[in-house]
Amino acid sequence: MQCPRTSYPLKPAKVGGIVVYISERSGGVFFDNLVLSNFTNPADVRAEVLAKHLRQFSAPLGDENARVNCPKCPQIVMMRRYFSPLRVVEIDECPGCGGIWLDTGELDKLHENHLSAKERELLRIKMLEEHQVFHIDSPRHYKLSQPGERSNLEKVFAIAADVLSDD
Ligand SMILES: [Zn+2]
Repeated sequence: MQCPRTSYPLKPAKVGGIVVYISERSGGVFFDNLVLSNFTNPADVRAEVLAKHLRQFSAPLGDENARVNCPKCPQIVMMRRYFSPLRVVEIDECPGCGGIWLDTGELDKLHENHLSAKERELLRIKMLEEHQVFHIDSPRHYKLSQPGERSNLEKVFAIAADVLSDD
């Protein structure tokens, strides 16, 4: 398999017993279907090790918005999509094999935006509440660019509310 950004061969690497395919040119990484979920929690040693390993190769990309072809299915163009409903981090997913390509820095971004199980539950409850509020009282009470002393979780809630208000 080749790096979709540089065409250099991807290097298989076992991280915590799980194989991922690393581009030592671009700092990108390819995950087979469902494998990424093993690396999204920054509290997991495995995830931390991989993120640290990738950082040493990170290179600036030419055109970040250029579509990439799947390393595993070279004839298929990967689809750009948001990793989570919060729409913070975008990833490339192959509609053929379900593999995922992360460009340099994207694993770090996933980790920065990772929610713990407790935070996810709070978010779920909050989203339900906000959803009702938006039907009764529609004006937004926040701005994403608003400076302030919000916690990270509050920022995430603000983004979640934004997502819901698109509907
Ligand atoms: Zn594929």
